[in-house]
Amino acid sequence: MAVDAPVIDFHFHVTTAEEYSEWFRGWFRDYGGEETVAHLRRVLSCPQAMLDYLDQQGVEYAVALAETNPLTTGISPNERVVEFCRASDRLIPFANINPYITTDLVSELRHCVNDLGCRGLKLYPTYQYFYVNDARLYPLYDEAQRMGVPIMVHTGSSVFRGARLKYGDPLYVDDVVVDFPELAIIMAHSGRGFWYDAAFFLAQLHRNVYMDITGLPPLKLPAYFPNLERNADKIIFGSDWPALTDIKGNIAAIRSLSLSEESKAKILGGNAAKLLRLLR
Ligand SMILES: [Zn+2]
Repeated sequence: MAVDAPVIDFHFHVTTAEEYSEWFRGWFRDYGGEETVAHLRRVLSCPQAMLDYLDQQGVEYAVALAETNPLTTGISPNERVVEFCRASDRLIPFANINPYITTDLVSELRHCVNDLGCRGLKLYPTYQYFYVNDARLYPLYDEAQRMGVPIMVHTGSSVFRGARLKYGDPLYVDDVVVDFPELAIIMAHSGRGFWYDAAFFLAQLHRNVYMDITGLPPLKLPAYFPNLERNADKIIFGSDWPALTDIKGNIAAIRSLSLSEESKAKILGGNAAKLLRLLR
């Protein structure tokens, strides 16, 4: 793979300040101060503002995530996210389907992909309280596999109020992959906190399982994953913006790791480009 692969931020929340739950807005203000909320409003004020921000940070494409998390972070509807992303093919919408709100998961997936143009799905088991191997989701996986739609799943810790961490154990992903071996699954946050080894092992074991390193300090990666380079084809960069605003700094930190240039290019965008079929 060429080392000039695009830089892709695979994990970018486009939930607006108004769409976040009241609790989240308060937490966010405490965490980053008033300036963080102003930054959030500025970047999401219009698609061009976000594109300008991505330019400043050295990011070519961003996966923009919808969420239906009324119990925790808030609701950013698929339609709204798609509308925002319509401005540029650099903004790639991923839908969310909450299995407690949507009855017909298969029809909803078809609608999101075929009618709205979503390029993938993000599931939030930790925020919506289901195990990812719940039989209720199997028809959804079956259809996603048939359609070639990648599914990102939150794994690992969360500090958000209402999050239930047991649902974020990557081991449940293993169950799904055994039954749907052609379905591409991205474990968001690589099992952050308790399950780094499990996430790494699963990504190594299963051909279509990936791990996004969103929310992990890049310089700690060699400590979390001592054999990092062995999974260079499976590791995907993401920022978790707005939680992380110095995307540029994180990209530079990844570039400073002692890995081959080819591996770094894969992590920063090459692997994501393949998954998203962004060929150039
Ligand atoms: Zn996130």
